[in-house]
Amino acid sequence: MTAKSTNPAYTRPAVPSEPENELASVIASARELLLWEESLGAQGFPGSKRAAQHSRTAGEPARSEAIEDCQARLKVLADEAATCARCDLSKGRTQSVFARGTPDTDLVFVGEGPGYHEDQEGLPFVGRAGQLLDRMIAAMGYPRDGVYICNVVKCRPPENRTPLPSEAAACAHFLVPQLELVQPKVIVALGRCAAENLKCVPPAGPWRGVWGEWRGVPVMPTYHPAFLLRSPEFKKPVWEDLQTVLGVLNREVPKRAR
Ligand code: URA
Repeated sequence: MTAKSTNPAYTRPAVPSEPENELASVIASARELLLWEESLGAQGFPGSKRAAQHSRTAGEPARSEAIEDCQARLKVLADEAATCARCDLSKGRTQSVFARGTPDTDLVFVGEGPGYHEDQEGLPFVGRAGQLLDRMIAAMGYPRDGVYICNVVKCRPPENRTPLPSEAAACAHFLVPQLELVQPKVIVALGRCAAENLKCVPPAGPWRGVWGEWRGVPVMPTYHPAFLLRSPEFKKPVWEDLQTVLGVLNREVPKRAR
């Protein structure tokens, strides 16, 4: 979906490429978005899911307009990611991999970074690990595209290595506004890299299955599906984590999955 054609165009401001300027860059982008909103006569951040939820009281058309607006803003970010050169991962990519699924959801999964198949197709979690993730999502009672799925970094790391802290920091330029726009009720961090980058790994002790928080959103860190392909004996604790997530979302565990 696209923004209404009457909307003035939104362009993200030019930002410095050094990771240490990340915060300044995010603030500059947020400011630009708010100014754009004001130019449309709006208050606050109407592209966000919260605005969409508030607009429920105003009726379905207003809600669907707010969701459309959110999608338009995500597309601006995705287009920027497609040409981003903020870190060296851009040099090896076939294409950037922004997200799949719907922003009109209560549940977001965050993985590490695209692999070979994702880099080829331009969509996250489409390889073997993605097929397992799809089965996990189905077991939770969601349609495949009823959740939103993205990664810490939007470009494939060489040999599928874990993203460097500097690469993750550069790509926070996309992940932060992406999550702020979708505003899920729960985030599932797939693997330690995602959990670390959402600041949800305790300094000591276990991290899997231990609730954290990212900007007020509960985060459930659990094992990555690629790890589960190698070590299927850990599927059980992951399923327990996902059932806990369903409880927080006030959703029933589907009968056939119990
Ligand atoms: N692993 C990830 O972390 N993300 C993907 O998109 C695919 C595999």
